[in-house]
Amino acid sequence: MTVKLDNDRTISVVITCTECPWWSAIRLSMDEAHTCAVGHEKAAHPGEEQAWEAARRWRRRQRTGRP
Ligand SMILES: [Zn+2]
Repeated sequence: MTVKLDNDRTISVVITCTECPWWSAIRLSMDEAHTCAVGHEKAAHPGEEQAWEAARRWRRRQRTGRP
């Protein structure tokens, strides 16, 4: 299961999930998109941590400026 964030350099971020082709969401910032992805993961894939881990890494990168 992978929740993907597609930030195509426009103002919006499209969130999709490899296991839920019927589900997708659009948010206006990466921060909101990560929150949305984690929410989907919690609701639809309890116990998985891919989106949570991606959000954690992204937030750390925002703080430190390092990958
Ligand atoms: Zn899903």
